[in-house]
Amino acid sequence: MMPVVALVGRPNVGKSTLFNRLTRTRDALVANFPGLTRDRQYGQAKIGELEFIVVDTGGIDGTEEGIELQMAAQSLAAIDEADVVLFMVDGRAGLSSADEGIAAHLRRCHKRTLLVVNKTDGIDADSAVSEFYQLGLGEVYPIAATHGRGVLSLIEIALAPQLEELALEQQQQSAIAEAQLEVDAEQAEEEFDFSDLDEHQIQDLLSVMDEANEEEAQQFADLPIKLAIVGRPNVGKSTLTNRILGEERVVVYDQPGTTRDSVYIPMQRDEQDYILIDTAGVRRRGRVNETVEKFSVIKTLKAIEDANVVLLVVDAREGISEQDLSLLGFVLNAGRSIVLAVNKWDGLADDAREDIKRELDRRLGFIDFARLHFISALHGSGVGNLFESVKEAYASATKRVNTSMLTRIMMMAQDEHQPPLVSGRRIKLKYAHAGGYNPPRIIVHGNQVKSLPESYKRYLINYFRRSLQMMGTPIRVEFNEGE
Ligand code: GDP
Ligand code: GDP
Repeated sequence: MMPVVALVGRPNVGKSTLFNRLTRTRDALVANFPGLTRDRQYGQAKIGELEFIVVDTGGIDGTEEGIELQMAAQSLAAIDEADVVLFMVDGRAGLSSADEGIAAHLRRCHKRTLLVVNKTDGIDADSAVSEFYQLGLGEVYPIAATHGRGVLSLIEIALAPQLEELALEQQQQSAIAEAQLEVDAEQAEEEFDFSDLDEHQIQDLLSVMDEANEEEAQQFADLPIKLAIVGRPNVGKSTLTNRILGEERVVVYDQPGTTRDSVYIPMQRDEQDYILIDTAGVRRRGRVNETVEKFSVIKTLKAIEDANVVLLVVDAREGISEQDLSLLGFVLNAGRSIVLAVNKWDGLADDAREDIKRELDRRLGFIDFARLHFISALHGSGVGNLFESVKEAYASATKRVNTSMLTRIMMMAQDEHQPPLVSGRRIKLKYAHAGGYNPPRIIVHGNQVKSLPESYKRYLINYFRRSLQMMGTPIRVEFNEGE
């Protein structure tokens, strides 16, 4: 699970500068969700192998009285969701009463907090930081967000526990991998060098791989499907969850949790087990004003990470928004299978429906492999059919495909449409085999495959998708030099 770093501080201390520096290489994820108290920004960042989420909480203007109130209103939720808080102050402006107010609050929060003195470029860092020790938050970390100075080591310290955990995990994994490698070092070497082998030897090796793949695929067969219902506030997630579970179960699962936790609800439908990951928090009947408070971007992102299949709900009456596309991007990035539900389809005039369908075509054309359902969570129409697509998406994501099938499909694609020449030689695809599931990975071996243009890679992915009838899941194709 990705850790969450929250940037907290009064306006103008450099939060968005640091946010941009941390997330620059990746797209900022979910900006400015409407309905939240103030514009908050969420982004993905990475240090080493560790991905994390950064939240810019927006400014806290603590100069007026009632700092508590304002903290509560806009940043409390973000602090609550965070694993670590970076409390930023301005090394040039010096300590202010607003800083003291925020510090007092943070001391009471019992969250892991690092005090960061920004803008220490071109000034004497030692004297700039010294006065901030009196905030009583322990060590003080000087940085210059605009230049990036001190930022890397700050994050290393901030996420030290998570980095350690990851390193330990990787150590264990590589120890296991090493042991395996030793056992069949010779075979492993041969396995990826097809050039000296004849047809029969290659077939033998590939069938060994197929057996291993089969074992891996088998493990998915009997597991419940983890299904996350996600979407912007007010699109109808709670209504849909209630509809799926049946009214009588609502109260049972209406348990308070922290804002970042989804509720996991086991259920069964048509002999298939599911675990519903409820990000909305099923609402107790009669309570209507909970929408803003119960919605949490972090919770949504974590639910997506943890799911097998994501049911993304959009609102027919609102159209496709940037936030919908951000969420979609995150789902695909995470390699999760997806089913789209266009909710509130009831009571719309025919021409309105046509307009909406045209818009969906235009904006969601890039994800034409996802099944699209028009539903009314309120009246229940179309809801039952969702599960067929969910099952189909999961089956696609975990579908067993063997080497000869993949190689044959690849050859057909190549025959229909030759790869281009690279410095006078034609790129040649030779073999393809499965590299993993959920999402499906296909490894293609060949000559000069690293030079394949993006357009040809897309063509191949689509060819695999059509031939294998994989709906609802992203497919990853990797290319290995065969010689
Ligand atoms: P926010 O309101 O906390 O998000 O602050 P911003 O990131 O918008 O920064 C406020 C101002 O401080 C901008 O003019 C930045 O260019 C400037 N600033 C941010 N970081 C630094 C820094 O490390 N050094 C200097 N000299 N200026 C900085
Ligand atoms: P959530 O924030 O995504 O959980 O959204 P809710 O389930 O709380 O729904 C937000 C509002 O949309 C509520 O007033 C619902 O009654 C309404 N709503 C939900 N689904 C439908 C639907 O299918 N049709 C119509 N007309 N309204 C709906």
